[in-house]
Amino acid sequence: MAVHTVATPVALGPAVGLSCRECGERFDLGPIFACAVCFGPLEVAYDLPTGDPEALRRRIEAGPENIWRYAPLLPVPADVADKPSLNPGFTKLVKADNLARELGVTGGLYVKDDSGNPTHSFKDRVVAIAVEAARAFGFTTLSCSSTGNLAGAVGAAAARAGLKSCVFIPHDLEAGKVVMAAVYGGDLVGIEGTYDDVNRFCSELIGDPLGEGWGFVNVNLRPYYGEGSKTLAYEICEQLGWRLPDQIVVPIASGSQLTKIDKGLKELIALGLVEDRPYKIFGAQAEGCSPVSRAFKDGHDVVRPVKPDTIAKSLAIGNPADGPYVLDIARRTGGAVEDVTDAQIVDAIKLLARTEGIFAETAGGVTVGVTKKLIEAGVLDPSLTTVVLNTGDGLKTLDAVAPTTGPSATIRPSLDAFRAAGLAGS
Ligand SMILES: *Cc1c(COP(=O)(O)O)cnc(C)c1O
Repeated sequence: MAVHTVATPVALGPAVGLSCRECGERFDLGPIFACAVCFGPLEVAYDLPTGDPEALRRRIEAGPENIWRYAPLLPVPADVADKPSLNPGFTKLVKADNLARELGVTGGLYVKDDSGNPTHSFKDRVVAIAVEAARAFGFTTLSCSSTGNLAGAVGAAAARAGLKSCVFIPHDLEAGKVVMAAVYGGDLVGIEGTYDDVNRFCSELIGDPLGEGWGFVNVNLRPYYGEGSKTLAYEICEQLGWRLPDQIVVPIASGSQLTKIDKGLKELIALGLVEDRPYKIFGAQAEGCSPVSRAFKDGHDVVRPVKPDTIAKSLAIGNPADGPYVLDIARRTGGAVEDVTDAQIVDAIKLLARTEGIFAETAGGVTVGVTKKLIEAGVLDPSLTTVVLNTGDGLKTLDAVAPTTGPSATIRPSLDAFRAAGLAGS
């Protein structure tokens, strides 16, 4: 297979280059994302540490309590843990026994709670890896097209790394996401259009002198960015005692996270870190933006773009780049892709809060809602170990639950008034 080389190759840990997901063509590491031969997406290729799995396991366990414990499996320099970073990851895997009881799950139900990351969403993982690539390629400005969480993660990571940032969002996002994206001091630009318009705009900017020296974490740094999602797979297995879950429910925006979780699980099997046995991956979307779920149910291989209309704005990508790969993975592993309505999303946010004390953003409502729906439909097996992802914090999407959540009563400060409210002993 031909290799496309560059004059001064960079080194990023065990990464040996980029390879095309479609045709396998190989490229040197660089800020490129599409195959020059067939336009397929590029992903990072590795020379992973084979040999004694026990030694690797010990090395990981002795590492820092963040994603850098997995540095031997990521496209980052060996001394990455010493560099300025938000150090995301190693978030809680919560054994959700109350929710399990409510949903009738007997095989063990867990919530991987990524709201515990530095900017309160899973996006800190992917951005942390992209920052290392940006440094290696000499970029001075970090950028992205974002459905909200990514903008905040990029702003914060750039601030810590001493890089400039300029991030782009659809103009009509939740106030919490806009403030989070702006507070770190970089430039924030609202684009009059949908996320898909924002993304198209960023692709144009990359080809223009205006965007020179800019690392767009989810465009020209996308192969590196994507690898950050593998750490979710690593952590889940390590936290289960180096065991694969039987079933895992993952939200879908572009589909990158889901495909890289699958990649991470396969790597752990190949390295001998977990026992090789089947696992099923389930994808979750909001009905108001469900192009992958639609294709799955219709038995199609192609994903027809839609115009999003849902409260789950972090997942509102109408033309998901990794949609076809998500379909492959769901079908190959025996999983499924399902969607829930906005009302079901709100119910699921409240269900998770009421049973486990976890306040999820709308994306978490999507995964919990889809989990419930798939159990009721007999698609998810309640006797198996199941992990549900919560990828963001409910404080960023207060509007979703505010209309149906509030004080049980507002009273004068007197015992009589409290007694009259009828709450005592409830
Ligand atoms: C970005 C995002 C996702 C998933 O993104 P992919 O593009 O599918 O990788 C999931 N949840 C939240 C909260 C997000 O912000």
